Amino acid sequence: MVKPVFADLHVHLGEAPDGRPVKITASSQMTIERVASFAKNAKGLDVIGVIDAHVPSVQTRVEEKLASSAWTSYHDGGIDAGGITLILGVELELAFHGRLFHFLAYFKYLDDIKAFTNNYLQTRVKNLTLSTQRVYDTPEAVLKAVRVHGGFGVVAHAFTPFKSLYGNAVERSIEEVFPKEIPDAVEIGLSADAVMADRLTELHKFPFLANSDAHSLENIGREYQELYVQAPTFQGVISAIQNGGVKAYCGLQPLLGKYYDSACAACGTKLSESAPNSCSFCGSSKVIQGVRHRLEELACENTVEVARPPYIHHVPLKTYPGIGPKRLERLREHVGPDLYVLHEAEERELKQVLPNETAAMIARKDVAIESGAGGTYGKVKRTSSS
Ligand SMILES: [Zn+2]
Ligand SMILES: [Zn+2]
Repeated sequence: MVKPVFADLHVHLGEAPDGRPVKITASSQMTIERVASFAKNAKGLDVIGVIDAHVPSVQTRVEEKLASSAWTSYHDGGIDAGGITLILGVELELAFHGRLFHFLAYFKYLDDIKAFTNNYLQTRVKNLTLSTQRVYDTPEAVLKAVRVHGGFGVVAHAFTPFKSLYGNAVERSIEEVFPKEIPDAVEIGLSADAVMADRLTELHKFPFLANSDAHSLENIGREYQELYVQAPTFQGVISAIQNGGVKAYCGLQPLLGKYYDSACAACGTKLSESAPNSCSFCGSSKVIQGVRHRLEELACENTVEVARPPYIHHVPLKTYPGIGPKRLERLREHVGPDLYVLHEAEERELKQVLPNETAAMIARKDVAIESGAGGTYGKVKRTSSS
């Protein structure tokens, strides 16, 4: 039976089972167990990509869970962790002529990511217990190694100004980095959407992914896709991505992204449309280029139309005015997980917990947004009536 599932394939861990930090900037609440239960119960996701599953103590914890039958491994890959599927993956920092960018790899079984870690990664990174380590090998060799171990290789957050393929590594084209073998998919989002990304004709042949890159529990599910899958397994998810099984992308509304517009690198002032290369406030010409401007630079003259699943602009609940941690908790308790609240709940259900104005904004999807820039997220503005 084909059924729709919600999948966010880029969720980091903050702390390994041995208590050591995995990603220094991630919350220590991000253990693999907490991440799995929060993604399912608070967010309403069905599938998550657990990035940082290359860490040996994380692999050992997964092994223990499987041995005790608390979790089970799907025949078609992926792990059933009590009603939510975990796809094991890793984020890697690759370099092209010294310019860094991030790359994701997903594996079918625990044994595959273990083999990739032990046979390949171990001798090419400095510290196997940390997230997103620099790999000392060429990008194409990394992609090949991922494929040798049955993995799926994805360009991570492709347009962000620091450490992304289009934001930092290439002059113009993905082929500079991957001349012969091309990755399996490109993660867009976090300041861009599919319409923006498709202005690069060379991306038309790639499946897209919209993922949260969450470093905290609350950010899980700020981007995700709805997929039609035969079963919520590794194979089910990958074939949906590759063979037209994406029902919709739900990406963060680009204006909310922290690198949507350009900003002055010296004082942080958002740069205006008319003078995007120097700061009107302090005069500096050091610019953190926004994703919007980078894409305008790269955009092809005559782009042809490309058929894509709908790309829905997602405004996470916590960004609405009037929704703090207490109200979020009450919403989940009285109405349902976040994705239910956003997609299905009726205005009258929301009014049980929220002020009328906020309930109306959510139910009617009626929001105005001030764009983000230079590392500061965009903001949902109160409507005049609220
Ligand atoms: Zn990254
Ligand atoms: Zn990441």
